[in-house]
Amino acid sequence: MTASLGIHIFHLYPRHMNLHGDAGNVTVLASRMHRRDFCVEVTQVDPGDHPDLSQADLLFLGGGQDQGQRAIAAHLFQLGEQIRGLVAKGLPALAVSGGFQLFTRSIRTMDGDELPGISVFDGYTVDGTKRCVGNVVVNAAVLFAAYPSQHANPAAPLESYPHTLVGFENHSGLTYLQDETSILGPVIVGCGNKGDGSGEGAVVNNAIGTYLHGPVLPKNPHLADLLLSAALRHRYGSEIDLEPLDDTVELRAHTVAIERAQAARTARRLRR
Ligand code: GLN
Repeated sequence: MTASLGIHIFHLYPRHMNLHGDAGNVTVLASRMHRRDFCVEVTQVDPGDHPDLSQADLLFLGGGQDQGQRAIAAHLFQLGEQIRGLVAKGLPALAVSGGFQLFTRSIRTMDGDELPGISVFDGYTVDGTKRCVGNVVVNAAVLFAAYPSQHANPAAPLESYPHTLVGFENHSGLTYLQDETSILGPVIVGCGNKGDGSGEGAVVNNAIGTYLHGPVLPKNPHLADLLLSAALRHRYGSEIDLEPLDDTVELRAHTVAIERAQAARTARRLRR
């Protein structure tokens, strides 16, 4: 791959929204591109900035406490119309937990505050009565079947990657999506969007919302490559193959996370 090809990642509000190491997702995205000899530029956006989002090939927004969400909501809201327009044209985005909540229409926090969201995902978030904390396993087979391009290279066929996503959730806000927004997938272990173990996350075009921290991408390299393929497609208007990487360690971590989540669920059931 030639070093002249590359992508520009906009990292939204890293100082306010970086719960459970979410900034590590940007490290993973950049590292997977560098290992394939692509260039990566990362622009950090803070409240008060005037970012030129038309230059973005991928947006990332991490999770945060209610306080962090409160500090950035008004500024993000000003960028909302542009972000929605870009997502409609295929701009990939990853929004995690508190960031995912801000990508819905609105949030009602624990204190009863209403924060405006940017409506990338059609739905809303309200504070629940309990905190959802623990390891999560999601069946994302539908997502990966719909976006097979990152596995076009026969050296890294789709079958060699799991159809699951793993991560750690920690939220009291619950997200209710309208029918038009697809979920990332059904929950196998964990609480998910509504706290009831039904669905997790949201997908609109190439924008993904999820409650999965961890950070999510180191243990889900197939999700990272799905986003990177979309970012290259957004930048160059055509498919650019991603060379396969040796993901032995990442996939081992993925498997161990599933085993731990399932063991914790079994232990919880036995205690009841
Ligand atoms: N403050 C939000 C909640 O508790 C989001 C927390 C997070 O990003 N994990 O629901």
